[in-house]
Amino acid sequence: DTRIARISSAIRVIPDFPKPGILFQDITTLLLDPRAFRDSIDLFVERYKDKNISVVAGIEARGFIFGPPIALAIGAKFVPMRKPKKLPGEVISEEYSLEYGTDVMEMHVGAVQAGERALIVDDLIATGGTLCAAIRLLGYQSARKLFHDMDGGENRPKILERVGVDVVECACVIELPELKGRDRLGDKPLFVLING
Ligand code: IMP
Repeated sequence: DTRIARISSAIRVIPDFPKPGILFQDITTLLLDPRAFRDSIDLFVERYKDKNISVVAGIEARGFIFGPPIALAIGAKFVPMRKPKKLPGEVISEEYSLEYGTDVMEMHVGAVQAGERALIVDDLIATGGTLCAAIRLLGYQSARKLFHDMDGGENRPKILERVGVDVVECACVIELPELKGRDRLGDKPLFVLING
């Protein structure tokens, strides 16, 4: 596919960013090339347009660039999965581990409903920890909503069961295959455009 070649050559690789030894895949140069950017969106839309997906969940920050055009084209809603303390409404959160320390991802309560079919979008998968957290968060949301329904809104501290949102697939522009992030996603399929 000539589109894949165009996307691949539009992504810039910057050594030693954000710290020494890291080869950073920079998608901002893809955004400077309207044809290559459109090709990347088209490839996702062609794959997901007839899959009955009602939710595109985008991971901050670069999932906010690729997620919304895909959501609009397939007729799905867009749900932002954000860094802590950015969302103004009631949130649920999920902690996940990084190379050093931990991070937290948050989503608005009520953004998704049990039984919805979701696609999770980010620019890149490395270790897979970020996508794993997003998968868990979409599950908890429904579990918590179920408890709200059952106990009249009382906030139960413990999540007993994960139900609800069906994560159909995770989609990224770039995969770093040597980090084996794909293996951490369990039974959730991963679709990527290129390998970094
Ligand atoms: P993971 O959790 O280890 O899979 O890391 C994936 C997350 O880190 C994604 O949200 C990416 O945006 C970000 N990330 C890691 N490495 C890169 C890179 O080289 N370029 C752009 N984003 C990166």
